[in-house]
Amino acid sequence: MPQLDDSAPATDDRLDLGPLASRARRSLNGDHPGVVGTRLPPLVDHHVHLMIIGADALVDSALGAVLDLGAPLDVLTDLRSREGLPRTDFAGAFLTAPGGYPVGRTWAAEGCAREVPPAEGDGRGALPSPAEAAVAEQHAFGASVVKVALNTAAGAVFDATTLDAIVAAAHARGLPVVAHVEGEGMARLAIDAGVDALAHAPFTEQVDDELIARAVALGQRWISTLFVAGYGERTPDAARAVDNLRRFHAAGGRVLYGTDLGNGDQPLGVNPRELELLVEAGLAASDVLEALTDPWPREDPAEGVVTFAADPAPETLDDLPAWLAGAVLVPTEEAEDLETL
Ligand SMILES: [Zn+2]
Repeated sequence: MPQLDDSAPATDDRLDLGPLASRARRSLNGDHPGVVGTRLPPLVDHHVHLMIIGADALVDSALGAVLDLGAPLDVLTDLRSREGLPRTDFAGAFLTAPGGYPVGRTWAAEGCAREVPPAEGDGRGALPSPAEAAVAEQHAFGASVVKVALNTAAGAVFDATTLDAIVAAAHARGLPVVAHVEGEGMARLAIDAGVDALAHAPFTEQVDDELIARAVALGQRWISTLFVAGYGERTPDAARAVDNLRRFHAAGGRVLYGTDLGNGDQPLGVNPRELELLVEAGLAASDVLEALTDPWPREDPAEGVVTFAADPAPETLDDLPAWLAGAVLVPTEEAEDLETL
């Protein structure tokens, strides 16, 4: 019997993390010289609200990039002029039907909802349509995605013609569209309109397999936000969100990690509860890492930084969330390749 060395577990004991993970050692110059662990691309939360948590709340977090999905344009002006991490992309204001969600919500800062009147005629007039004007405003302030609110439970929603006009105006500028869907029929409305992403895994209705197949065929991305569907309670909304996301993922749909940070009490960084729910929705470790490191809406990850998660690396899926929540963001040169380990 050969002696087994406890300090160097056989590779087989470790969970298969997939192609995004590699073995690394923190360089001898940093704060934690020589620590061995796993290197990953920068982590991304694809659904945050800096208007609620504050523009600087994530500066020292493990997140390398965030996507803000709803804020007044003056908040964005401040962000745009800021350098540094996490790299921040944003939608600007929620585009919504007159009187629609989130107009009047207590958390909705002044100016975070932009009401868009219905499209009229054939849209070929000399003046820009209301949809074009609203999209152009967000774009002018530096938005890289457009957010639409489709919430039948909280007032008016866009008719299909107006929604089509918004999607067309956004796509004409190269901006993907993210929809908040809530209430009966809203997932279908968003999928019919060809929106690029859902801001939440649908939680108020069961999305049938046929509609899920259409969303997958469209290349639609679903941002998870499973934790805020029940805040840890197994509510009907939470169960529906997990079930919808499980079937979307199983059908080949692209899942993005997102927490709706600012909504409820969540850690200012990676939320291990969100990761636990992704595992519950059937994502393997490599799928979780894909959801958590997809640079969308950008093509490329944030530059000059990587994620480092110290050993012991997880041995089971149950260990994965807490281990990832303990990861840190480091300059690329501080995580040396150890591919032979
Ligand atoms: Zn949100």
